[in-house]
Amino acid sequence: MNILVINAGSSSLKYQLFNMDDETVAAKGLCERIGMEGSQLKHTPTGGESVVYSEPMPDHVAAIKLVFKALTDPVSGVVKSMDEINAVGHRVLHGGDKFSASVLVTAPVKAAIEETIPLGPLHNPANLMGINACEQVMPNTPQVAVFDTAFHQTMPEKAFLYALPYKYYEEYKVRRYGFHGSSHRYISARAIEMLGGKKGLKIITCHLGNGSSLAAIEDGKCVDTSMGLTPLEGLPMGTRSGSIDPAILEFVMAREKVDVTEMTNILNKKSGVLGISGISSDFRDLGKAAAEGNHRAALAIEIFTYNVTKLIGSYAAAMGGADAIVFTAGVGENDPEMRKNIVDKLGFMGAKIDAEKNNIRGKEAIVSTDDSKVKVLVIPTNEELVIARDTQEIVSAL
Ligand code: ADP
Repeated sequence: MNILVINAGSSSLKYQLFNMDDETVAAKGLCERIGMEGSQLKHTPTGGESVVYSEPMPDHVAAIKLVFKALTDPVSGVVKSMDEINAVGHRVLHGGDKFSASVLVTAPVKAAIEETIPLGPLHNPANLMGINACEQVMPNTPQVAVFDTAFHQTMPEKAFLYALPYKYYEEYKVRRYGFHGSSHRYISARAIEMLGGKKGLKIITCHLGNGSSLAAIEDGKCVDTSMGLTPLEGLPMGTRSGSIDPAILEFVMAREKVDVTEMTNILNKKSGVLGISGISSDFRDLGKAAAEGNHRAALAIEIFTYNVTKLIGSYAAAMGGADAIVFTAGVGENDPEMRKNIVDKLGFMGAKIDAEKNNIRGKEAIVSTDDSKVKVLVIPTNEELVIARDTQEIVSAL
């Protein structure tokens, strides 16, 4: 079975074509500047040369048509016709409290994604555009929606409710939803496998990338996570503030003379390690600058590390212990020093890193010492594979 996985943004669209017989990626690509001047598609068949199509893509339908052209190209394509694509899996950011698992796209499902737009105003409209474009271009191919929030729907009320007037929850569904769900699900399931498939494990998963979140997982089910109603809550990130005193908003808005829209933009785009360092949101740039003596770059890394460490401790307390800590995403997979600095502080709960085993990047491994009470794992995430597997499962049952 061939499954096309699509992650549609407002002006971009990423895709991967999976051959599910052996779960390999046949090709992947990225459309950029959809609806703008200078749009282009970069298509890369696995093991082959990348091809760039600089063609106008006024909308997502045009983008999907160009993706099909690339996938069926006689030279750089990987299928003969679109009939060889059996299903499409879409990443959808926000499923609200309506979806606790992936679903086949139907009219009521699309209506529910639409109703959830107020909770995911930047992403859900774009995700819907991707779905609508595929429906238009390949009307007979089943489509599946995989939600970033779904895995976290098992959180208990005590973890997902904010201490606000209750009616905000009842009337507007203001609550913690959490994101990166497919990633936390994938790495926690893999960790359980790598630890011998034991039942009841307490795992803390750390997705540390440009956007970062932690999840507390008991017996395979999420019991808490750090992102909230939106992906702004929790850890300081590349450009997002993470959790701050909510009173800061009014205080700064009055002095900087900015409205709430601009303030929200500042919290999302100009804060985090970029805001602290003043130089970059990218941890590699920060590491380099810190090594050259830039104090604020070093401070940004230190604040990030401190917050991850503190949250791991709090999730261990919430679960009454932890059997494993798992690191993933750009920073979690590729920065041994960051992992060491975090785990070195967790000796009190029985976590010990093995410096030699930890000296890896982008590979699956158990990096704690043999006598470490808490196992520490590095597991490269694979959200696209989660989407492809869910899509295959749903479509196979049709
Ligand atoms: P996202 O998918 O959220 O955009 P990623 O998971 O790709 O982000 O993570 C991007 C972050 O990972 C960047 O800050 C980048 O600097 C960091 N990163 C990637 N490789 C390394 C590395 N070798 N050392 C430190 N940080 C790295």
